[in-house]
Amino acid sequence: MDDKEQIFKLRDELRQHNYMYYVMDEPSISDFEFDSKLKQLQDLEAQYPQYYDASSPTLRVGGAVTKNFETIVHAQRMYSLDNSYSKEDLMEWETRLRKMVDGPIKYTCELKYDGASISLTYEKGVLVQALTRGDGTQGDNVTANIKTIKSVPLKLQGDYPKKFEIRGEIVLPFEGFKALNSDRLAAGEELYKNPRNTASGSLKLQDSAEVAKRPLDCLLYSIVGENTGIQTQFENLEKARLWGFKVPTIAKLTDSIEGVLEFINYWDTHRHELPYETDGVVVKVNSLFQQAELGYTAKAPRWAMAYKFKAEQVSTRLEHISYQVGRTGAITPVANLEPVELAGTIVKRASLHNADQIEKLDVRIGDTVYVEKGGEIIPKIVEVDFSSRDSDSTKTNYISACPECDTLLVRNEGEAQHYCPNDMGCSPQIIGRIQHYISRKALDIEGLGGETVALLVNAGLIRDYADLYDLTSNQIIHLDRMAEKSADNLVNGVQASKDVPFERVLFGLGIRYVGETVAKKLAKHYKSIQALSEATTEDLESVDEIGIRIAESVVAFFKNEANIRMVSRLILYGLQLQLSEEALSNQTTQLQGLRFVVSGVFETVSRDELKALIDSNGGKVVSSISAKTSYVVAGANMGPSKRTKAETLKVPIISEQEFLELLNE
Ligand code: AMP
Ligand code: ZN
Repeated sequence: MDDKEQIFKLRDELRQHNYMYYVMDEPSISDFEFDSKLKQLQDLEAQYPQYYDASSPTLRVGGAVTKNFETIVHAQRMYSLDNSYSKEDLMEWETRLRKMVDGPIKYTCELKYDGASISLTYEKGVLVQALTRGDGTQGDNVTANIKTIKSVPLKLQGDYPKKFEIRGEIVLPFEGFKALNSDRLAAGEELYKNPRNTASGSLKLQDSAEVAKRPLDCLLYSIVGENTGIQTQFENLEKARLWGFKVPTIAKLTDSIEGVLEFINYWDTHRHELPYETDGVVVKVNSLFQQAELGYTAKAPRWAMAYKFKAEQVSTRLEHISYQVGRTGAITPVANLEPVELAGTIVKRASLHNADQIEKLDVRIGDTVYVEKGGEIIPKIVEVDFSSRDSDSTKTNYISACPECDTLLVRNEGEAQHYCPNDMGCSPQIIGRIQHYISRKALDIEGLGGETVALLVNAGLIRDYADLYDLTSNQIIHLDRMAEKSADNLVNGVQASKDVPFERVLFGLGIRYVGETVAKKLAKHYKSIQALSEATTEDLESVDEIGIRIAESVVAFFKNEANIRMVSRLILYGLQLQLSEEALSNQTTQLQGLRFVVSGVFETVSRDELKALIDSNGGKVVSSISAKTSYVVAGANMGPSKRTKAETLKVPIISEQEFLELLNE
């Protein structure tokens, strides 16, 4: 055998041993033998650089250094999951599903691995890219670091699709976590708090050789992409396993919600036996066709539901209750606790949500309370230990006036939260709105941080975000801790924000319930602030995914004189309050006035592309068929109940091809 053949043979062998060891957990040779083969390969590769292979097992040791992780847009958005905390929530979900899809529904139950999500792209069986979830729309390119994780196959086996994406979770198993911490203890370094944060922190290390030293693992759970030839989620898992991925075999296919509950009950008690952390169960509608029928909300798939295991609890003493005022004026009561350790962190504060919650718990100062950490960052009080209550304790009276500005609080019919109505004069609201405006996903103003905003407001230099554009560096320089350079940076940062696209400015305005995704939708639909400000609630509600709550909030915002003045000033200063020429040029009015329902699976375009086409050509996508629907665009396997409904209401059903013709007429 010549050296070239030897290189290829060693690579294949090592790959196979790696797979047996890290994926199958059944070592096929000793560590010593493995290391000496690896060493042999390293030497040969050094001698023959012409046989370089980006997926060679020698690259597992890392070495590539990434200074700045490149941000890349996900080919398919990485959604989050809806959560449920009770069996009743799950049953309600099932009831909703039954109304939306035809026929029997099967479910795949999987564990919810607690780590950092990752999306891997394979082309011709080779790992070409690994992206973090980021904000779901775009993530960081961490390919070099991911390649060092031994259970991530660099090369696949079997009958895999030419190109596909696979998603999963990077986790740090307990044992590895403990080992890392005992090393740190020995080195006198601060200990890591929990496996999840350590896993996600590891992905962003600059030196991949450091990542290689961390015993990370990669558990996969979904294949993304149309035309993979796969029909169900369960099959997804089986296929991925065959191609060499580590897919936990703890997954169950069931045809009833009772089967789902059994799985949950079993794992709620047995999960502590697993080598890695899990925080729940993910239930997915098994049929990919039904999944496509169900689609997504702005945040999560309708076809999946996470069931969160009950979190760990501790008891401690409630010292006092303080009240925070948010940027929208909402009051949040906060419990200040005697510090106590919970799930690896020290807890000093817990959320009490609102007046009803305090009333319901009947929680009083001095009480011993049970604190629980769910998915939220801030823990919550779940129960009071009445048996240890002082006999002279007094009932908690909710505040009636704002702790910041003394204005009488209001509470709207049907809402749980109290509000301070003094939006123009209450300082945390004034500061909070401006802080939101400058935040990263909004105007992202460089050189200006949250604390400086507070300084500027307190010094009387600004009262709203429009005032930012009148600031001069002479005014700012007199503030505490403000050097000439940073004053200039601030002013330049503010000026630069005039190029930020419309959708982000719209998000920055801080209209209640208008989050990032909704802002994008509205910007795209209305194209300018002018058009949006003139929209009625009915008009707004007809936009896909916009509900009554958002519609009313938008209308209320533009009814307010002060807001109108502020927006007019922003226009005057030259902010982007309409879509750019470029964004507009991809748009036509070809489908103006038409309302479409999209159903089934398509050949030349994906469902999302089809919806985007309708949207950008002036049409409206609506979710259910009514007499007002102009067309139903039907792909393969359109649901029978939708078909009947369309036929009864005499709504024309057109094919993908006919739709494209309509577009090009
Ligand atoms: P959350 O971050 O709470 O919205 O939960 C969504 C995240 O759960 C996803 O982004 C995944 O990273 C993670 N996850 C863990 N296990 C699974 C699983 N089996 N299926 C889908 N998502 C999972
Ligand atoms: Zn106030």
